[in-house]
Amino acid sequence: MIPLSVAEIASITGGTVVGDPSVIVTGPAEYDSRKIGPGGLFVAFTGEKADGHDYAGVAAQAGAAAVLGSRDTGVPGVVVEDPRGALAALARAVVSRLDKLTVIGLTGSSGKTTTKDYIGQLLSRLGPTVALPGSLNNELGFPYTVLQASAETRFLVLEMGARGVGHISYLTGIARPSIGVVLNIGAAHIGEFGSMEGTALAKGELVEALPSSGVAVLNADDPLVAAMASRTSASVVLVGSTGSLTASDVTLDAAGRASYTLSDGSRTGVVRLAVAGEHQVANTLAAGAVALAAGMTFEELVVALGEVGIASERRMDVFTRPDGVTVVDDSYNANPSSTSAALRALAAMGEGRRTTAVLGFMAELGEHEVSGHAEVGRLAAELGVDRLIAVTGKAGPILDGAAGVDGWRGTGLLAADQAAAIEILQADLRADDVVLVKGSRYRTWDVADWLRHPEE
Ligand code: ATP
Ligand code: MG
Repeated sequence: MIPLSVAEIASITGGTVVGDPSVIVTGPAEYDSRKIGPGGLFVAFTGEKADGHDYAGVAAQAGAAAVLGSRDTGVPGVVVEDPRGALAALARAVVSRLDKLTVIGLTGSSGKTTTKDYIGQLLSRLGPTVALPGSLNNELGFPYTVLQASAETRFLVLEMGARGVGHISYLTGIARPSIGVVLNIGAAHIGEFGSMEGTALAKGELVEALPSSGVAVLNADDPLVAAMASRTSASVVLVGSTGSLTASDVTLDAAGRASYTLSDGSRTGVVRLAVAGEHQVANTLAAGAVALAAGMTFEELVVALGEVGIASERRMDVFTRPDGVTVVDDSYNANPSSTSAALRALAAMGEGRRTTAVLGFMAELGEHEVSGHAEVGRLAAELGVDRLIAVTGKAGPILDGAAGVDGWRGTGLLAADQAAAIEILQADLRADDVVLVKGSRYRTWDVADWLRHPEE
């Protein structure tokens, strides 16, 4: 953040000062009182389970310079009607005062957090960069991230989520990116959008917001994304198997890591990724296009892409346990396209080994719920997954999909809950096993945690 007085915060947010208006907040803003540091701004929200205002005193003791909330807590600061709106207003004001800053926004159905982390790692080589770990992509996490930028920051990398039309516009209204990336349009949240075209309409708001001096990085291999080229006045960089930054000769090694020839039309270089899954080709191409637009040389990019790593939890986190079992913890979240990507990585890693996919329910698919699960099961069987464990009855259609594949010799098992899935694994785990764990949000986290620490 940039230093702001309580009086300035009140004027930006339209709030009322409590206590001394000349107190200076050096930031950043936090809504978790455990994270607040000296000079910080504690933002109090009233949630369903907890009320942030109850922690204002704790935050002040931890050094918070001021509290921004919807009622007077006795701690100096600013009282506003709507702390969410105030956080957004503050973010908007701060970003407008940072003139050295290049804002990068990215959206898509799958791979936002992963790619945001890659972009952050690449741009850090060029200058001070803010790209927070995790998935802070909504009307709270987005301004929160913006407020971590300071006068030194050159690059601010922002993940943008959309659950409906207008959501991305709201976010670009807080911090307008000059480089925008759209990764893909899949079936994520399709229940809310009705169709992939509806999703594309909403996600395309990002490229519409770009200035004509900006750059839109679009996935050439996703027709709905490539078509967004007509919705922007910015320069378009298409990335994929065709376009202005391409990957060709893609191969996967036994650990599921891709290598490819990167080309910008005039130069080529071989990129050997350290992260698993063929989908990382698309993610690293998109990140690479951003780095080039930000001034990285092609030669540096080829080296740097080989060094990007996973920075956020439960995303293609591949580890081998002391007993030899390899675990692919991709359990953060799931939709049919991300599960397909993970299954393909599992199959690549499973050459000569026994493969197990523990798949939980995929939420928010609406009318595509049954077909989405069946489709994933079918792919698992086609890829020859040896054991398929569906977690909870609602994930059952996965097994129906697999059973419909002629010649599949694997086993399909239904676990009533995560504990039952753990029991199945516990009863039969071998050193040559590769186990993928995936499901929407918390729905397979216990299984992943058990595989990580079986003794607990
Ligand atoms: P969320 O909407 O939950 O924020 P996200 O878009 O940020 O998701 P990530 O958290 O980066 O996505 O990745 C979630 C999972 O999606 C990964 O663990 C991986 O299985 C899969 N995934 C990542 N990149 C891609 C991609 N380009 N195409 C398909 N699947 C992908
Ligand atoms: Mg995310």
